[in-house]
Amino acid sequence: MKLLDNSPVSSAQDLERHSWRMLVDGEWVPSVKEATLDVYDPGTGEVLCEVPAGDEADADKAVMAARTAFAEQRWTGIVPETRGRILWEIAAKVEEHAEALATLESLNQGMPYKQALHGAIPAVARCFRYYAGWVEKFGGRSSELSTGSHRFHTYTLRDPVGVAAMVIPWNAPLTMAAWKLAPALAAGCTCVLKPAEETPLTALWLGEIAEAVGVPPGVVNIVTGLGHTAGAALAAHDQVDKVAFTGSTEVGRSIVQAAAGNLKKVSLELGGKSPVVIFDDADLEKAIPGAAGAIFSNAGQVCTAGSRLFVHHSLYDGVVRGVADLAQDINLGYGMDPQSDMGPLISVRQRERVMGYITDGRSEGAEVLTGGETSGPGYFVEPTVLVNAHNSMRAVREEIFGPVVAAIPFTDLDEVAAAANDTMYGLAASVWTQDIGRAHGMARRLRAGRIGVNVHGLPDVTMPTGGYKQSGWGRELGPEGLDAYLETKSVFTLLR
Ligand code: NAD
Repeated sequence: MKLLDNSPVSSAQDLERHSWRMLVDGEWVPSVKEATLDVYDPGTGEVLCEVPAGDEADADKAVMAARTAFAEQRWTGIVPETRGRILWEIAAKVEEHAEALATLESLNQGMPYKQALHGAIPAVARCFRYYAGWVEKFGGRSSELSTGSHRFHTYTLRDPVGVAAMVIPWNAPLTMAAWKLAPALAAGCTCVLKPAEETPLTALWLGEIAEAVGVPPGVVNIVTGLGHTAGAALAAHDQVDKVAFTGSTEVGRSIVQAAAGNLKKVSLELGGKSPVVIFDDADLEKAIPGAAGAIFSNAGQVCTAGSRLFVHHSLYDGVVRGVADLAQDINLGYGMDPQSDMGPLISVRQRERVMGYITDGRSEGAEVLTGGETSGPGYFVEPTVLVNAHNSMRAVREEIFGPVVAAIPFTDLDEVAAAANDTMYGLAASVWTQDIGRAHGMARRLRAGRIGVNVHGLPDVTMPTGGYKQSGWGRELGPEGLDAYLETKSVFTLLR
């Protein structure tokens, strides 16, 4: 596979000439069993290409390659300045290939090309640059210690955790790969990445970029394959020191169990059911588009999507109407069509799941104010607003991961704070008000890892993100994201 040398990818047909392989120990290889997986275009439902269907044997080879690379210090043996420069060069290559990467992301994930090109791809480059800067900057601390008549010089060292396995979802494929690889490489880890079976293509290209800019063999390995085979094998492997997982809460639980064998470190970025709270003094010119953007961006396939909309009862009718009007203005269409604002869902399964929640919502008494229909041949679901919703409905309690928002009126701050927190999740929330005390008060009371005030919090590489409650363990991004790939060692030196 040499995508970088080929002519640009600008359509599904261009993919036919590429032969996709996995990256193991610096070699592009088929799976051990030479099995393959079909990869689909969710905008048409057609097969785009095949990738290797790696399983336990492939996961094992990749882990052992990463283990050897770590033991031989193939990565940490390179001086930090050069490692930082290599990460910086990954960012530059991502930018150089932005159009091809955005095309692949759109064809394979369904997101509008313009959003991939102007949103996802620049953020991926920024993520590598940010962590490139950390390679030479994270350090320990020193102190002076005395016990009895002895004096010590003590200090801490930050060591890479070792071999990091990474299992990621399909909703933002290249972004999720960058959020894991960039801090892990900055920390000095060697890596095995398993992209989601639905969306392996940009991760494989990223592997080729890493190779092209001088990441040594075995430092970044990429195994394509199914979750319950390749993914589960990585989570259970006794030569993996850390597993970093992003995906559903249900699979997160199985990762924790699999990781228990060798007590590997675990970080989890899981599901969400994030509230958007609009108070009676909110600036509706901002709050209404903010609430619509919070749920309809990436067709609602965003872990922090604002899927529960709490509106002060005095504004309720106007706000839900405003969000519904914006939903109706969204052009639902094929990702590569420049007119499209929203693409399809990722799979037939996801479309059925989302439609099931809409049907259940209706049968539990919710009214579909707008949307609620599906169309083909791709996996399209209209942006949908459910009104007359309440906190006990399935569509309000469970993560839908689609373009469906349930709107609920409230009367006062205590009531809405309790209702917003009445969920097993705690990933994000936003508060819309002009009252600074109310904004800060709510920011403290909401049990979630990312709070937006008059914005539905954007992820940014400089700020940590992660979940309270069953939305996860640990934090990604920011300096905290680096900590997730580091061990701390204390050194005591007896002074004379
Ligand atoms: P998923 O949990 O089904 O799959 C995620 C990944 O796990 C895939 O690579 C899959 O192959 C793998 N996997 C599946 N079963 C496995 C197993 N038994 N062992 C090991 N790996 C396994 O999730 P999904 O449907 O791909 O993604 C949607 C979910 O991801 C949503 O719940 C969403 O909220 C969550 N998500 C969270 C964040 C976050 O930052 N918190 C970001 C994006 C997505």
